[in-house]
Amino acid sequence: MITAERKPLEELIEYVRPFKRILLVGCNECVTVCAAGGRKEVGLLASGLKMALLQSGNAIEIREHTLERQCDREYVDELLPMIDGVDAIMSMACGCGVQELAGRYKDKPVFPAVNTEFMGASERQGVWAERCQGCGNCLLGLTGGVCPIARCSKRLMNGPCGGSVTGKCEISKDVDCAWQLIWDRLKELGQEENYLKIIPAKDWRTAGGGGPRKIIREDLAA
Ligand code: SF4
Ligand code: SF4
Repeated sequence: MITAERKPLEELIEYVRPFKRILLVGCNECVTVCAAGGRKEVGLLASGLKMALLQSGNAIEIREHTLERQCDREYVDELLPMIDGVDAIMSMACGCGVQELAGRYKDKPVFPAVNTEFMGASERQGVWAERCQGCGNCLLGLTGGVCPIARCSKRLMNGPCGGSVTGKCEISKDVDCAWQLIWDRLKELGQEENYLKIIPAKDWRTAGGGGPRKIIREDLAA
């Protein structure tokens, strides 16, 4: 999933301070799972903003709505009946959702309420960790299912740097050395030969180095 964290309230207050009525929009997908921008967080932020602005003498009306997915035009259109009379929109979705709203409702300023972080997985309750950087040419089949791009601090693709100590990365004892994890997993799988395969220098064009990427599925495209 895409992970995100709520921006500080003080920053959000400054975005909305000039307005009388805003629409605050959450998303039921990734930002709900990582507790940054789902229905519950929309309610909490709306109360926080109203209270803080009231205390400084600026009453604000906040309409609240949470979409199934903000990165999907089909759902974004749902906001149409709520937009009338609204001065601005604040999105609690990831950057993709914010940009969908900005592209669809062009006459309204759209503000992000969260900082979009990374593609990750839940390690335990309340802890999410980066797992993938969307490089466009997945290597996990060679590396025992551990990503050297997202999980090695130096993005090394052909073995460790030599700085790890007792399985921890040299940047921090709280970070596992990705290449230790890769080696342990390859051994478990009996795939040690993969460790000796040279992974060619990465062509970063598949990772967006050639500009914004697109997936076009001819069989599905309208
Ligand atoms: S190799 Fe690329 S696509 Fe695969 S997990 Fe790592 S960053 Fe993501
Ligand atoms: S110690 Fe391991 S994870 Fe850290 S930079 Fe070196 S190879 Fe990568």
